[in-house]
Amino acid sequence: MERTLILFKPDVLQRGLLGEVISRFEKKGLKIVGLKMLKLSPAVAKEHYAHLTAKPFYPGLERFMTHQPIVVMAVEGVEAVEVGRKLAGVTNSRKAEAGTIRGDFSNSTSRNVIHASDSLETAGKEVARFFRKEELFDYKLVLHEYFYAEDELK
Ligand code: UDP
Ligand code: MG
Repeated sequence: MERTLILFKPDVLQRGLLGEVISRFEKKGLKIVGLKMLKLSPAVAKEHYAHLTAKPFYPGLERFMTHQPIVVMAVEGVEAVEVGRKLAGVTNSRKAEAGTIRGDFSNSTSRNVIHASDSLETAGKEVARFFRKEELFDYKLVLHEYFYAEDELK
């Protein structure tokens, strides 16, 4: 089972979309193992977006990401990293497929609702960035066998 980090940007709370976007992960069958609301600090924003700090849009991105609370969520499932990216859709929401979160709820490359870890290695670092060990829950989903066949679980 993989774990991945999903982050709902400040536009989600402002636009009243939180329930709807979290619901997409639940319905897909990803198990929520951590969930909390916080205000991102500039320092953590720089760490989270280290690959982008030299870009001209970075100062605006940091301002946006730190000016209002965000919600972070860790989810678990088979190939959860890839599934999370698929549910999110591509970065430029104008090009994101309808049916994806960005495709359905955003029209922007910046105010694009959601972050989803882009690889298993990044996911490990990002889950650890936002959740302490005791904030992640290892529990059994009673309907587990209705989401996956035995051979998929190995
Ligand atoms: N971003 C932006 N303008 C750009 C490219 C990216 O504001 O031209 C922001 C946007 O919020 C995006 C985030 O930077 O989600 C991280 O960019 P990345 O390329 O890692 O895309 P993602 O992994 O979020 O799809
Ligand atoms: Mg990224």
